[in-house]
Amino acid sequence: MPRKRFGQHFLVDQKVIADIHRVVAIRTSDVVLEIGPGRGALTAGLVDSAAQVIAVEIDRDLAADLKVRFPSACLIEDDVLSVSGDLFRKKRIVGNLPYNISTNLLLRLASQNDFVDMHLMLQREVVERITAVPCSKSWGRLSVKVQRIWETHRHFDVAPEAFVPQPQVTSTFVRIVPLGNPVEIRNESVFDNVLRTAFSQRRKKLSNSLSQFEINWSRLGIDSAKRADQLGVMEYATIANSLVR
Ligand code: SAM
Repeated sequence: MPRKRFGQHFLVDQKVIADIHRVVAIRTSDVVLEIGPGRGALTAGLVDSAAQVIAVEIDRDLAADLKVRFPSACLIEDDVLSVSGDLFRKKRIVGNLPYNISTNLLLRLASQNDFVDMHLMLQREVVERITAVPCSKSWGRLSVKVQRIWETHRHFDVAPEAFVPQPQVTSTFVRIVPLGNPVEIRNESVFDNVLRTAFSQRRKKLSNSLSQFEINWSRLGIDSAKRADQLGVMEYATIANSLVR
């Protein structure tokens, strides 16, 4: 039985699985990290094409089955949110992510740009947030964190019928690539604190929502009468960096 607490919605539509493999286009030299292999819907094709597949699965029973079915893969039975960031380095990352951890995983990884690329199935609403532009409804902390370091590209939507059991929302398959020149951040936690504070009161003027920080607005050339959703990545980086001596 699929385990709800692990967000288990298994891909069963063979056309979607084939489309994913076509888009990811694994080469024989690639080292792949699969997040949440589940019943191996994507793993089979990855093992066939890649130099090495490492897979992180939290469900002990599924991990045990996968070890038998894919002896050449390196199965790590663990929570992907608690593995070391080193595991992602130089990997091509693939995953039909459990929806309950997708935002947390993206936020956790969004200070890391040392992986090759990442192809993920996410709920469409999360993809709208990571691909959003300023002044739109979806623009928020996740958009800024992700876009300061990664480029995102929407591939295709996937209907609930492609999964068993069916999720309640439409999914989107997305490609994420680290930027060659990410926007420089002097201190990640200051950056995060500014974003969190600004977007927790997104309709307020920045002069009010960010009043707890000592910001010299005129020196930074940023209009403090604007609202949180009107600033872009560079402006948030400028504000956060000005707070770090
Ligand atoms: N890749 C499979 C597929 O496409 O059919 C399964 C996808 S299912 C949406 C998500 C998978 O991630 C499940 O196998 C689930 O057990 C696993 N999972 C859930 N939370 C996890 C976590 N924190 N760390 C690692 N795997 C997790």
